[in-house]
This record gives sequence, structure tokens and C-alpha cells, in this order.
Amino acid sequence: MFESLSERLGGVFDRLTKAGALSEADVDTALREVRVALLEADVSLPVARDFIKAVKSKATGQAVTKSVTPGQQVVKIVHDELVRVLAGDGEPEALKIDNPPATILMVGLQGSGKTTTTAKLAKRLKEKNGKKVLLASLDTQRPAAMEQLAILGAQIGVDSLPIVKGETAVQIAKRAKTQANLGGYDVVFLDTAGRLHIDEVLMDEVQAVRDLAQPRETLLVVDGLTGQDAVNVATEFNAKVGISGVVLTRMDGDGRGGAALSMRAITGKPIRFVGLGEKMDAIDAFEPERVAGRILG
Ligand code: GDP
Repeated sequence: MFESLSERLGGVFDRLTKAGALSEADVDTALREVRVALLEADVSLPVARDFIKAVKSKATGQAVTKSVTPGQQVVKIVHDELVRVLAGDGEPEALKIDNPPATILMVGLQGSGKTTTTAKLAKRLKEKNGKKVLLASLDTQRPAAMEQLAILGAQIGVDSLPIVKGETAVQIAKRAKTQANLGGYDVVFLDTAGRLHIDEVLMDEVQAVRDLAQPRETLLVVDGLTGQDAVNVATEFNAKVGISGVVLTRMDGDGRGGAALSMRAITGKPIRFVGLGEKMDAIDAFEPERVAGRILG
């Protein structure tokens, strides 16, 4: 679909193969290609700009190793820098689920894959970590969404809080907390309502639930195919509710994953997991190397 960065740089550097070190002019030429590759991969402009600056200072003057071409060398520098930004401070992947019951608040827009991701994570915690998990849907506006979570729960053998009509999101969160304590659960997932757009009502509700539930983790679920929109959503949610991490869904699609880099750079929050399909097992811990490779093409 796209020309890979290695291919682009191969051409640019053909004439350079005998040079001893990467000159500033050569690096500038190469970085113009890198910039196009980043933008094609959906990395936002300011993030691409900062990224290029960092790569430039690392690449300029670097001796060209005999075993690789200058093009390959720049690709390696870009790759390593992508991994460095995506990995951040190397926070642990594991969700914080000490001192049970730990609450995990799931937030995001409608259609992002929030309910599916909630069930996938519940299954993972149950099977990989042997945790006793409780699911609760707070989507009081959409009974179908509440039922969807209960159905997925039954499918994966995880309990869900019985649905009581007429309760507010905060009341459901309170009941979930009580149930989690009484039932000896290790983890309780609160699947908040999603709306098509970010609005004040949504944010007020999520804030009220957060204040009551005091979540150990607040995970934002975003559609990895939505590029710049995903970055705006992450910025808004982080400013209004404070998130502890991001789950990028639809990474099984043909998006290039540039949203991951933008989100990491702009919010400073780690990408924790990637969604890779509709099945309950289609979720993986985020691997910076894999996404870096994908952005490079
Ligand atoms: P919500 O409105 O945010 O709760 O979204 P849902 O969890 O209901 O998901 C919306 C649709 O996206 C469903 O058909 C899911 O099966 C699908 N979906 C969720 N995550 C992924 C993913 O990682 N990859 C793909 N291909 N589909 C996904």
C-alpha cells in the first residue's frame, strides 16, 4: 500500500554509500522522507516535527558502519527512536490489581470497542492471573450495551453485576463496589457509557463515577484506525478524567499505528494493550517494537 521507509531511503542514499559519516545535508534529505512516512502512518504533525528533531541530532555526524548502507543506518536510528518514544519509561505492562477489590474504569467513545475490550481483559485476568473478576456496565442510556456485557461475561465465564433498571451510573458503581467486597472479587471492571462525541454530560458522569470508585486504573479505549481523532479523544479524556493507560483497538486493520506514537508523545500515558480482532482472545500487551516496525512500513 505504501512505499516502505527503507525503500524510500535506499534511493536517497544510493550516492552516499562511500561516505564516511552522515552529513547534515544528507540527514536532512533523509529526514524529509521520514517525515512523509510518519505523516502517512497518521502521526500528527507536531509530534512528527519533534520526532524528526530528535532523530536529526542523533543521526548527524554518526559514522556510517561498513556493514550497512547509510539508508539502513538512518532507518535503524528512526526505528530505535520510535521504540524509545513508544516505550516511554518502560512502565510495567501488568495492570495494577493489588489490594483487592481493585477497580478498573473503562472509558472511551461509543463504538471504540470498549465493551469488547472490557470482556477481553476480564478473560485475560481470569485465565492468566487467576483473578476473580466482576463486570458492571454503567451504560444506563443503552440497555443493549448493558446486555452485551452480560452476554460476553457469560461467554467467558466471568460474573456480571445484575442489571437493575432505573439506577444512575454512580448508583451502579456503588452497588458494584459493595458486591465486589461481599463476593470476594479481586477485580471489578466498570464499563462506562460511551457517546458518539465527547460532551460535558459524558465527562461529568465519568468524573462522578471516578470520584466514587477511586479506580486503580482508568483505561481509555480508542479505535486505532481513527488517527488524529484518536489523539484528540485521548487528550480530552486525559485532561478531564485522568487516564492511566490506553488500549488501541482494531490494530488488526490496515492502519499504520501512527496514532500510538502521537498519543504517547502528547498525553505521556502508556499504551497498555492492543486489540487485534473481535474474538475474546484477540488482545495483546502493547509491544513498542511491533508498532515501530509497522509505522516504518
Ligand atoms: P463500544 O461501543 O465501545 O463498547 O464498542 P464494542 O465493544 O461494542 O465494539 C464495537 C465493534 O467493534 C464490535 O463489533 C466489536 O466486535 C468490534 N471490535 C472491538 N475491538 C475490535 C478489534 O480490536 N478489532 C476488530 N476488528 N474489531 C473490534
